[in-house]
Amino acid sequence: MKMDTVLALHSGEGRIPAHGGPHHPLILTLDMHGVPNRWVSWQHACFYYAKDLVAWVAGEHHFTFLGGVNRATGQRSSITAHSIIAIRGKALAQHHFHAVPPLNNREIFHRDRHMCAYCGGTFSGFRLTRDHIRPVSQGGLDTWMNVVTACRACNQRKSGRTPEQASMELLYAPYVPNKAEYLILCNRQIQADQMDFLSRHVASQSRWRPG
Ligand SMILES: [Zn+2]
Repeated sequence: MKMDTVLALHSGEGRIPAHGGPHHPLILTLDMHGVPNRWVSWQHACFYYAKDLVAWVAGEHHFTFLGGVNRATGQRSSITAHSIIAIRGKALAQHHFHAVPPLNNREIFHRDRHMCAYCGGTFSGFRLTRDHIRPVSQGGLDTWMNVVTACRACNQRKSGRTPEQASMELLYAPYVPNKAEYLILCNRQIQADQMDFLSRHVASQSRWRPG
């Protein structure tokens, strides 16, 4: 199913938020080979279109951004951006590429599907904590491979001990999300077609793998 959303890019009377908001989805950029790169704002996507840097498009969703009215012709300009766009050659900002994605609580909780690694309960974000499997006080590192999601009660019970020392069993293993998975984890308003595309690129151990 094709879906088109019309958004006002620029209008005389209105003000639009600089970024975000339910009506301003992020656009997924890929390199020429279809490898996921990063999220860009709709403004940035329009820039790629205007500079003819969009090599090909994917996804079922597109957004039409309305521009200003040309005084001479009376025509209103518009750019239609697809939800997934492949960018030509060197136009992609490679400095945004991280071999290991940055560690944030929100993304850790998302990776672990908001499930406490010790009691198996699922909780909302504010009731969860970042547990260092090997505690920092015992030389444990603050890395994807040494952190899991724990509810406050379990984290308190485990305290500064390893799971073995606390006789608490880990219900699942930590892992480093690959680029595609990280892009899933860090977008709060991911579109269904973007999710479909990215979930085909996640690694086999991912808890975001379909099926
Ligand atoms: Zn728990």
